[in-house]
Amino acid sequence: MSRFEILRDLLSRGKYFKLVCGAGNENVEEVKRLALVYTLAGANGFDVSATPKVVDACVKGIDLAYRHAEKLGGEIPIRPFITVSVGMPGDHHVRKAFIIDDCVDCGKCIPVCPTDAIPKDYNIIREKCIGCGNCEAVCPPKVAAVRYEHNDKALSEILPLCLKTGAENIELHAAVPGDDKILEEWKMVSDAQPDNFISMCLDRHHLSNMHLIERIRAAREIAGERTMIQADGVPMSGGADDFNTTLQAIAIADVIQKNLKAKDKTFQNMPILLSGGTNGRTAEMARMCDTPYQGVSIGTHARKIIKTWISEANFENDLNAIRAAVEPAADLVKRSVVQ
Ligand code: SF4
Ligand code: SF4
Repeated sequence: MSRFEILRDLLSRGKYFKLVCGAGNENVEEVKRLALVYTLAGANGFDVSATPKVVDACVKGIDLAYRHAEKLGGEIPIRPFITVSVGMPGDHHVRKAFIIDDCVDCGKCIPVCPTDAIPKDYNIIREKCIGCGNCEAVCPPKVAAVRYEHNDKALSEILPLCLKTGAENIELHAAVPGDDKILEEWKMVSDAQPDNFISMCLDRHHLSNMHLIERIRAAREIAGERTMIQADGVPMSGGADDFNTTLQAIAIADVIQKNLKAKDKTFQNMPILLSGGTNGRTAEMARMCDTPYQGVSIGTHARKIIKTWISEANFENDLNAIRAAVEPAADLVKRSVVQ
């Protein structure tokens, strides 16, 4: 089977679990460790920043998992697929925060940053920032000292480099208004990877249900059966492990299912990934709601449950620490895919 067919098969059985390292996460050491742990835990996909050095770190983490697998008594039946994330200006996934001089040094933003990107001098560490907006949310409204810049990359140049380094899929974060520019970028993404799935990540922040469906139709016109939709509930909000956090991820998948997949045969087999607020309750809630899905994409929550171990200095060579991190990760993967 080709790699496209292998991924299509995983999706058709609801067995695709993608660990999101963070579209803006350029912390290569962390990405390598995440890839190591979640490959051993049974994840078959990783979502990383569209940066060759980050893709390379992910490849190295997967290779390391293969080297450790036998010693840890596990096997890796399918080599995980690496997706690189690119985004439209304005999309949360591809922005970087910075703090302006109006900051009053209240310190509220430091503990809420999930990646420890805010040092005491408030000069945000760019490589670590994933654009989640937690710092902005706690910054006093009268001060409003957090700003963002778009992590701009020339797609036509960067994507071939990422694919050459080991990425196989591309995801376009398109949760912004304005169709023409998005479809132009989508076409570029489609041309860059004609042999495997490409994914459009959409939420309903700017789009009505009807507009959402129209955009998916337009995306499929361009990429055909290679089109995958990442149904993003509330982007980067999955830190809490409860039903409410994951509610919108199920809701958007349900909208696509009822308004498109159930009505139009062309879209019957189009894969939907649950994302944006996904956590350990996502699959359970999808089952409770009878909402079908083909894969789950988890970021904040999945990274959080193994943070203690992967932050250790000698983690990669410490088999006991790796084993300890793999345990909760494997449990999350197992509970998240379709049973
Ligand atoms: S809280 Fe989020 S947006 Fe702010 S610096 Fe940390 S990662 Fe970046
Ligand atoms: S929350 Fe806002 S005002 Fe307070 S330290 Fe952070 S950036 Fe400065």
